Amino acid sequence: MITENLRQVEERICAACERAGRSREEVTLIAVSKTKPVSMIQELLPGGTRDFGENKVQELCEKYELLPKDIRWHLIGHLQRNKVKYVVDKACLIHSVDSLRLAEMINQEGKKQAKVVPVLIEVNVAGEESKFGVSLEDTEELVRQIAVLPFVAVQGLMTIAPFVADPEENRAVFGKLKKLYVDIRTKSIDNVAMNVLSMGMTNDYEVAIEEGATMVRVGTGIFGERNYMG
Ligand SMILES: *Cc1c(COP(=O)(O)O)cnc(C)c1O
Repeated sequence: MITENLRQVEERICAACERAGRSREEVTLIAVSKTKPVSMIQELLPGGTRDFGENKVQELCEKYELLPKDIRWHLIGHLQRNKVKYVVDKACLIHSVDSLRLAEMINQEGKKQAKVVPVLIEVNVAGEESKFGVSLEDTEELVRQIAVLPFVAVQGLMTIAPFVADPEENRAVFGKLKKLYVDIRTKSIDNVAMNVLSMGMTNDYEVAIEEGATMVRVGTGIFGERNYMG
């Protein structure tokens, strides 16, 4: 069932790329495996899936220990400063940096572990009170502050769009983040790359791709409904 779901998601990604005149290689699909057992992840490995997303440090660490080391683990959930030390060596990308304090902690741990840590800045595009993330207005300043930290490498931007009935409602949200991403890239800030735009989930990944996403994070569409809030 999971491999069939993945095949369907893959088809829809290809179609969205085609509509947008983009090549399929420009978009990385992250299979969001949070709350799901290791056995479900293992079902996808023979087909070549290697990018998996988790939103909790402890769960990522547990799965990391049990699964092949060529898996690329993406930390997509909110990160507490006291958990940074556990994840710096295991995640290929931290999608959820939204404060200088957190970035400074990542820098400190990166230095200790001799690793330059790739991160995305999480932007709360719609300004929802319930969500983490820096505002659109404050993003460039935060990027500039983090740029000077030698063990943190900003790769791009991430957003979690509002939960909406019709994915078209999020098109403007994705468009705004894309515009900011291009604006910041144009400024060529030292030690900052703007190559990754992580946006789009099960309900809206096709619209996100049409608006320029380079990473989409799909959980339910691949693994089915989650039993508890993730
Ligand atoms: C859970 C989660 C997803 C996947 O959500 P689905 O709607 O199940 O595809 C994507 N991004 C983040 C940050 C998440 O926490």
